[in-house]
Amino acid sequence: MNLPELISGLSNEEKSELFGLLKSEFSSTPVLETVKSKLNKEQVTFCPHCKSIEIHSHGVYKGRKRYKCKSCNKTFNDFTGTAISGLKKSDKFQEYIELVAEGISLRKASAKLELNIKTVFDWRHKILSSLSKTNELVFSGIVECDDKQLDISEKGKKDLERKPYKRPSDRDTKRGVSNDKVSIMVASDRKGNVTMRVAKIGRIDTESVEKTIGDLISKENILCSDSHPSIISWAKEKEIEHHTFVASKQHVKNKCYHVQHVNSIDNRYERWVKRFYGTATKYLDNYLNWFVFLEKIKKSLQPIDDFAKVIVSNMDAIAWNRSTDLRYQDLMNPQFSKT
Ligand SMILES: [Zn+2]
Repeated sequence: MNLPELISGLSNEEKSELFGLLKSEFSSTPVLETVKSKLNKEQVTFCPHCKSIEIHSHGVYKGRKRYKCKSCNKTFNDFTGTAISGLKKSDKFQEYIELVAEGISLRKASAKLELNIKTVFDWRHKILSSLSKTNELVFSGIVECDDKQLDISEKGKKDLERKPYKRPSDRDTKRGVSNDKVSIMVASDRKGNVTMRVAKIGRIDTESVEKTIGDLISKENILCSDSHPSIISWAKEKEIEHHTFVASKQHVKNKCYHVQHVNSIDNRYERWVKRFYGTATKYLDNYLNWFVFLEKIKKSLQPIDDFAKVIVSNMDAIAWNRSTDLRYQDLMNPQFSKT
């Protein structure tokens, strides 16, 4: 076989595909380019800028197939909007994906990859932004749900994953007790589908129950939860069969109605999140998605490939990452964002 001749006969596009294939041949981590090309031969179906489907091929740029949108006139490629678009040091980024899949701490990752901790932190949230669609699921059958209160943490980038200094009195005086917590909603069905979503500051109300699980549960489901009045009145309004339990008692009705799954998810989350020494509330949704995703790939035979697939396919990841401050502002001051 005359390799040089063979290679010179290839188009630029084929050369870059070959390059990707060879790279993945010599590395244990999935090469994202290859994952993407396996995933979608010509799969780009809409413009990541304006979502229009009126797109057409527009040559090759830096070894990547390019497209142009007829609606907004912008160009893009397979990776536009994904966590890896415009990324430098992409080899290390791929290695890091593996570490994120293990749920490793920043300090360990920074030492292992020989990168400064700020880069590792930024990458972490780019990667986690790829999980923004983790909550897009449909529950079937019996669904358990539970609200959970977590401390609000304004921990910034300055004290990344260090044990926080204790200043016990300084917050309690500024806010009422219940407004010092952020509520999240945890729900799961018996098929192992799980969702964890940020609900609101303070105690949940029917509005935040609707916001967090309203699109996932319907009259077809049977709901089990503790006897929180907001969950009760929400279920009543939606005409969903609802069984309530006292959380501390592990009791079961009719052999199948209980809240044990959701309680055990709560416990696993508590154990898992400890390694981060408290997560900033600003990034809470990313951490919840991270945990839920790890639960999901736990039984997978190729968890890293699964992760890589999500990362190369989510073209809204960069937009989600950029909206972090806005989402945080909405959570902390909902009255300002309602128009
Ligand atoms: Zn467009």
